[in-house]
Amino acid sequence: MFSSLSDSLDKSFRNLRGVGKISEKNITDALRDIRIALLEADVEFGVAKELIARVKDASMGEEVLKSIKPGEQIVKLFQDELTRVLGGDNVPLDLNPPARILMVGLNGAGKTTTSAKLARRLQKEGRRPLLVACDLYRPAAVDQLVTLAGQVNVPVFAPERGETDVIKVAREAISFGEREGATVLIFDTAGRQEIDEKLIKELIELNKFLQPKETLLVADAATGQQAVSVATHFDEAVGITGIVLTKLDGDARGGAALSMREVTGKPIKYAGEGEKLDQLIEFHPSRMADRILGMGDIVSMVESVADKVNEEDAMRSMKRMQEGKFDFNDFLDQMKMIQNLGPLEGLLGLMPGFNKIKKQLPAGALDTSKLKKTEAIVLSMTPQERARPEIIKASRRQRIAAGSGTSMQQVNQLIKQFAEMRKMMKNPGKMKNMMKAMGGGG
Ligand code: GDP
Repeated sequence: MFSSLSDSLDKSFRNLRGVGKISEKNITDALRDIRIALLEADVEFGVAKELIARVKDASMGEEVLKSIKPGEQIVKLFQDELTRVLGGDNVPLDLNPPARILMVGLNGAGKTTTSAKLARRLQKEGRRPLLVACDLYRPAAVDQLVTLAGQVNVPVFAPERGETDVIKVAREAISFGEREGATVLIFDTAGRQEIDEKLIKELIELNKFLQPKETLLVADAATGQQAVSVATHFDEAVGITGIVLTKLDGDARGGAALSMREVTGKPIKYAGEGEKLDQLIEFHPSRMADRILGMGDIVSMVESVADKVNEEDAMRSMKRMQEGKFDFNDFLDQMKMIQNLGPLEGLLGLMPGFNKIKKQLPAGALDTSKLKKTEAIVLSMTPQERARPEIIKASRRQRIAAGSGTSMQQVNQLIKQFAEMRKMMKNPGKMKNMMKAMGGGG
């Protein structure tokens, strides 16, 4: 979402970094460029102006101008200001009992999806969530929540078809939750294309009845400034406690994300980064600022991987490698792990400087779908062949190629590569050298 803003910032800062001695004029010029970049990214005017003014004030201080690397100092000042604008620290949810979360927002913002994503997250954290369908206008919305709840394996309370009393539904859901031992209730409410009075009236009543500790506005980051004004409206009506910004994976300009906190005064608590139900991250302003500045977000990357990789599987596979027992079955497990991580591009995008590297990669280099072919070959082997690759002679290779829809040549290549990989694993010294050559530790 922030790639063009990141590029412009990178350019402006590069100019500053290059100058040995910085003058007031250098700073003014660079900040002017940065201000334009922010406005081009659709950052609200007042927010951009204030941000630049604060960085400028701080930059003009004696210490910065006289420091050894004034350019770096100014980047740091900007990073601090950006973090402040984004909200400072992450603000966690208030989940003290009775923990109730009211999800509000316009249709299409991602309310239902986010409710399910949040339930999944809370369940992973050891809580017992219950999803409650409170959209009585669109039966399809209820069905959608029920389906998503099934996918994340979280119980759901859905009203009968034709039910019109949302307070009754809420009351029944609360008793249902108590009976089932739920520790946090997430209420997915009706949305509209735009804010209308009837919707707001219903929300006010529901809000009054539930007294939720959290009322989260789900806003589509791709709608830019509109998302900011929607947040303000909902806040005036029902008093929101936080914001979930969705579709941060899109290529909109990102200004909404940057203006949201400052304009509404409400913290962004989570961010949606894709349609999949595990693509909801906690929103950490400083990590986001780093990401915008092209400094990457290693912490989120590690968290995202940790969430998807089964540690036990990974350890077992590691151990087998060290013992020289690694076979095609382990290989298959590893391939599944990689595929679980989803598109590599999203993940690697969190790496410092990745945007720059990406441009130099050959097309398709990050395409995990190529793994499918390799996987097909391994799946066409018998269990014995996978466990003892050395028995795979010519006739077997022919059968595997036919079974996997590949060529004999592709099968030969895979088996050869696998044998080399195995040899390497048995020889830790060689492995170390290889890691060193690749620039890794070891
Ligand atoms: P609701 O009407 O507010 O309940 O919105 P939905 O939950 O039905 O979501 C609308 C569409 O946005 C669906 O196609 C979702 O898959 C999609 N969506 C939701 N969150 C995200 C996100 O973070 N990234 C992307 N790319 N799509 C999202």
